[in-house]
Amino acid sequence: MADELPDFDEDGQGGAPSNGTGYATGTGISASGFKDFLLKSELLQATVDCGFEHPSEVQHACLPQAMLGTDVLCQAKSGMGKTAVFVLACLQNLEISKTAVQVLVIAHTRELAFQIELEFKRLGKHLQGLKTGSVYGGQPLDKDKELLKDSQCPHIVVGTPGRILQLARDKILKLDGLSTFVLDECDRCIDQLDLRKDVQQIFIKTPKKKQVMMFSATLSADTRDICKKFMQSPHEITVDESKLTLHGLLQYYIRLEEKQKNKKLFDLLDTLEFNQVVIFVSTVRRAMALDGLLQDHSFPSMTLHPLPKAFAHKAKKGDNITAESSRIERLQAFKAFKKRILVATDLFGRGMDVEKVNIVINYDMPEESDMYLHRVGRAGRFGTKGLAITFCATDQDQQVLSKVQERFEVSIPTMPESIDKTSYLNA
Ligand code: ADP
Repeated sequence: MADELPDFDEDGQGGAPSNGTGYATGTGISASGFKDFLLKSELLQATVDCGFEHPSEVQHACLPQAMLGTDVLCQAKSGMGKTAVFVLACLQNLEISKTAVQVLVIAHTRELAFQIELEFKRLGKHLQGLKTGSVYGGQPLDKDKELLKDSQCPHIVVGTPGRILQLARDKILKLDGLSTFVLDECDRCIDQLDLRKDVQQIFIKTPKKKQVMMFSATLSADTRDICKKFMQSPHEITVDESKLTLHGLLQYYIRLEEKQKNKKLFDLLDTLEFNQVVIFVSTVRRAMALDGLLQDHSFPSMTLHPLPKAFAHKAKKGDNITAESSRIERLQAFKAFKKRILVATDLFGRGMDVEKVNIVINYDMPEESDMYLHRVGRAGRFGTKGLAITFCATDQDQQVLSKVQERFEVSIPTMPESIDKTSYLNA
């Protein structure tokens, strides 16, 4: 077994929301039902089909205003159902008989765009004639051209900023009939300047009169101010940083040296009980190297990254994920429980929702505290139990960990010898 992974510099690529209503149950789930929102019967039926019994606090605090067409700027902790807020509101207000792109949703990765489109399909499945589409880099442009043909264009388009802008510039994607503009993981799209530029340029191609909604778990005061420049008198939901940690999530760290990481990881995977686990590393190269190592030791592991051609011979024979499988196909395979371990970069760190993930391991510490919060939020979705373990190999790692504990007012102790599995496994 290699002691250390190669360290290449190549980049991979609720707390109670405060809404002035004083609404808080402490569990994050409201006692009322979805029928109180006066959703169309088709949508209400879909919430039942999805097993949504009660709205979460963020849904309670945001959905009524979103359905009325008010602009919304919403911060709420990970995994509490922000997606359903905009998906249900958009579906409620859609004019199915009108053939035009009425809703545009921007997400920062193709995986998230794909996942959001699925949520539109899932919650819109009883709406006859509903058409959705997703557009993102890595797909042939011709496919998008076909999708966006005038006579059959979708009501809802979800995509990544670069591809949407390209399609809008080339007038393949026509935005003159747009009534709703949604930005998910908005701080990520606003704080990174090239993404912000793309978002701005897309925004100016849309009609003046429209509803604008933006969402994230993390939102600094500065970013919030920039977001508001896109909006008119938005309904704002904020969460104190101290309330952003997930209550069902156990968090520990392990101090070790870089060369001890693999052995420790193998021990953890042998002893902990997991449904699915996500292991975060800092770069795509490290993800591939660690995935290879895990597979060599017969762990059911995968990454989101197709193998470079030169390594194609390394793909396992008979594997359901081949060297050529695209990132989206790989994501689908993980969601479908074809593999139980995903080695991922921060590409997977935000927004991704895989119900069965109950353990997150930070093999490499994230560079900053926001990212820690997003990563560990992949476990413990919607109030379920989970476990997050972070390897600390350097003083810098330790500093990030201290920052996390300070900002989010959470105590992350060293990992004990043994952990009672009922504390992180859902019954
Ligand atoms: P967020 O965007 O806030 O991180 P998601 O929108 O991804 O969270 O939702 C997390 C999970 O919770 C998803 O699997 C979603 O289907 C589920 N979910 C959303 N709303 C409800 C609800 N009211 N009841 C039960 N599950 C829900």
